[in-house]
Amino acid sequence: MNDLNDLYGRPLRNLRLSVTDRCNLRCEYCMPEDDYVWLPREDVLHFEETSALVDVFLSLGVDKIRLTGGEPLLRRDMPALVKMISSKRGLNDLALTTNGVLLADQIDALKAAGLGRITVSLDTLHRDRFKALTRFDQLDAVHAGIGAAHRVFGRIKIDTVVIRGVNDDELVSLIEYGKSVNGEVRFIEYMDVGGASRWSPARVVSRREVLETLSQHYGAVDAIDDPASSAPADRYALKDGTTFGIIASTTAPFCRTCDRSRLTADGMWYLCLYATRGIDLRAPLRQGASVEQLKALITSGWRARDDRGAEERLALGDRRAFVPVQDLLRKDPHLEMHTRGG
Ligand code: SAM
Ligand code: SF4
Ligand code: SF4
Repeated sequence: MNDLNDLYGRPLRNLRLSVTDRCNLRCEYCMPEDDYVWLPREDVLHFEETSALVDVFLSLGVDKIRLTGGEPLLRRDMPALVKMISSKRGLNDLALTTNGVLLADQIDALKAAGLGRITVSLDTLHRDRFKALTRFDQLDAVHAGIGAAHRVFGRIKIDTVVIRGVNDDELVSLIEYGKSVNGEVRFIEYMDVGGASRWSPARVVSRREVLETLSQHYGAVDAIDDPASSAPADRYALKDGTTFGIIASTTAPFCRTCDRSRLTADGMWYLCLYATRGIDLRAPLRQGASVEQLKALITSGWRARDDRGAEERLALGDRRAFVPVQDLLRKDPHLEMHTRGG
């Protein structure tokens, strides 16, 4: 039983492990610039170091881990890391979020290594739009990845960031595509995090609008009640039983129940997506800190947590991108979504 709670009584449960800050796409809403300051390679944790930190987190109540990035499948030999983590005691859920480009080749090894669930990000079904949005002509590779994930995992999730004027006319097509690959689509509201410097309130398509569009097409949409869930997505069902989710992180944030924190590839621990400062776990680890010392560091950090980043952003009147790209982003890669893993 986990009794490590933060100042609002939120337990430490969900850990997002970013394994690299590099990516093979340049999504407009995540990594729009040409140049970034990347994490120094020597700072990136070795798998053994990541595994050691995971043990400490698991001993303090974490029971769900999501591997992410950057693009996690760019990290060499991801199945080896999955294997190191998947059999650990206390872990109930091991998932991976990927853009899908490299997935087809790795899916069998990931499954064999013990990966439990997979989410593929896909924002559009149009090749020209995909290229405009990500700067790479890789839609076919993503489809291949999704097809492979469907074959190996059966049920999958598909994450779509909805952006006005970009893909808000594809909600129904994406649901239909999801049906064809046994994928539950989750529509994500465009967030003003990190490098999303092209964010503006006008480009956010709200949960309400997504529901309106889908009910105009499908008829009544029923909310699925799951009060026990701390998952960010509200889930809904269409009349034919098809389910989908909406992550209303911008217009109706879920900070109140947020049990997630993020470990960057270089071992910085962030208690909120919007936190500007993290807790360095790499330095003590490399200096030989004991398990008890690491536990104490994480425990005191979580006990002092009072972050409600998205709620605070919502309360702001005049809202723009979180950090102006010309200021901090180029100097501190940790402020980027692609560093802290979305
Ligand atoms: N590269 C992998 C991928 O794209 O799935 C994993 C990392 S990515 C940072 C994780 C998730 O964050 C993706 O589903 C992506 O769509 C989402 N994301 C990135 N920037 C976002 C933004 N500005 N608003 C909402 N979601 C965003
Ligand atoms: Fe796109 Fe994911 Fe890469 Fe960000 S990290 S640019 S969301 S593929
Ligand atoms: Fe959790 Fe921070 Fe996101 Fe709120 S903004 S849901 S506290 S990570």
